[in-house]
Amino acid sequence: MATTTGSGCLFIISAPSGAGKTSLIRVLLERDAQLKLSISYTSRPQRSAEIDGRDYHFVSKDIFKQMQSRGEFLEYAEVYGNLYGTSKKWIDDAIAAGQDIVLEIDCQGATQVRRFFSHAIGIFILPPSCVALEKRLISRDQDDAEVIQKRLEAVREEVSHVNEFDYVIINDELEKAVNNVACIVNAERLKRERQIEKHQALITQLT
Ligand code: 5GP
Repeated sequence: MATTTGSGCLFIISAPSGAGKTSLIRVLLERDAQLKLSISYTSRPQRSAEIDGRDYHFVSKDIFKQMQSRGEFLEYAEVYGNLYGTSKKWIDDAIAAGQDIVLEIDCQGATQVRRFFSHAIGIFILPPSCVALEKRLISRDQDDAEVIQKRLEAVREEVSHVNEFDYVIINDELEKAVNNVACIVNAERLKRERQIEKHQALITQLT
């Protein structure tokens, strides 16, 4: 498996549940055609608004475990009682094509990915307040009360990983938060090492 990202960037975006990460990433991807989102596999039941293959690849727990034992995941984790994993093959292909990749995964997954890709860029999204987080979880009407409670209890643990990330964005206003992530994406693309690699011919010509 590849352990460097070649000329592409690998962004890991994590957040406590209800911080608005999925909406933020959707808008970001609409605006930046060069960013490719890795579609995770999950054993979680599909929600009514979700589409198989667009939001997740929905599989049974058995299928997930078979894939896991065949080593098909770059990383995987159990989150709120369901299994989630990132396809190793998809990542390898995207890296080989020099694409900029976004992984929308939890902190356990982020730790595993950093072991292979030490240059991965971590972005952590925070809600503006506890009250806003709870309101969002209830108003999006996706989960029953028990699951919402589980998600709220997990917030403290997830936020304790904030130090492992390179950037922190407060999602108080979607537009502002998307712009901030886009700034990070651009700045990372313009980093010296990446630019030298990309524009080697120009630099040679000018020196
Ligand atoms: P949800 O059920 O709300 O879609 O996602 C629950 C949590 O699982 C979120 O924190 C999300 O980022 C995380 N998640 C989604 N896909 C993956 C994955 O492939 N790997 C890991 N480790 N976490 C994931």
